[in-house]
Amino acid sequence: MSSTFQQIKQELEQKKVELVAVSKTRSVDTIMNVYNQGQRIFGENRAQEMQAKAAELPSDIQWHFIGHLQTKKVKYIINDVHLIHSIDRVKLLEEVNKRAHAIDRVVDVLFQFYIATEEAKYGFNRDEIIDILQSNVLDEFQHVRLVGLMAMATFTGNEDQIRREFNQCSTLFQEIKTTYYPSNDDFHILSMGMSNDYKIAVEEGANMVRIGSLLFGARNI
Ligand SMILES: *Cc1c(COP(=O)(O)O)cnc(C)c1O
Repeated sequence: MSSTFQQIKQELEQKKVELVAVSKTRSVDTIMNVYNQGQRIFGENRAQEMQAKAAELPSDIQWHFIGHLQTKKVKYIINDVHLIHSIDRVKLLEEVNKRAHAIDRVVDVLFQFYIATEEAKYGFNRDEIIDILQSNVLDEFQHVRLVGLMAMATFTGNEDQIRREFNQCSTLFQEIKTTYYPSNDDFHILSMGMSNDYKIAVEEGANMVRIGSLLFGARNI
């Protein structure tokens, strides 16, 4: 496991791509093993699981929330979360803003862009994202900061399709950057790619990848 971690870490460092070690379902010991090799960014997709791990593990870990987030569960992560990758509706943005306001912090978030062809995946489509940026919705939420986009490709062996989907996200990312953030660097993270498709994602412009099973082995659940 450790040699795989070092290899992937080096590969990504060379390309200036940030690694989110996806630690959902993994034990505290397993996380500490990778922590002790220098990893500080970990990704979780269950609110209470993230909260419990954050309480037990070193405070310099940056916890990223990467899964579908129910509005009522925002309260469990609001203190510890460093970046929420999975904002997929305005209602969720509103709740994060409210909870962040209550503890006087600003929380960084990504909009999840729906690029896959599968029904089960969450996210905004292109028009919804553009609508939000063109309206004054974000101005109302002073306790969240939009810092980029996240996307998941269709689960398929068809590499051309995966590449096409990532490319679509990359194109939207660049467009938003130039159109809506011409004079500041707030909008700078493009989170795409998992164990099976991160190389394609990086080729298509991802600067953050979320890798679980390749680092830690296959998950049981
Ligand atoms: C589980 C998960 C990952 C990591 O998946 P692996 O195939 O184990 O690398 C990445 N992103 C999200 C949103 C996930 O839920």
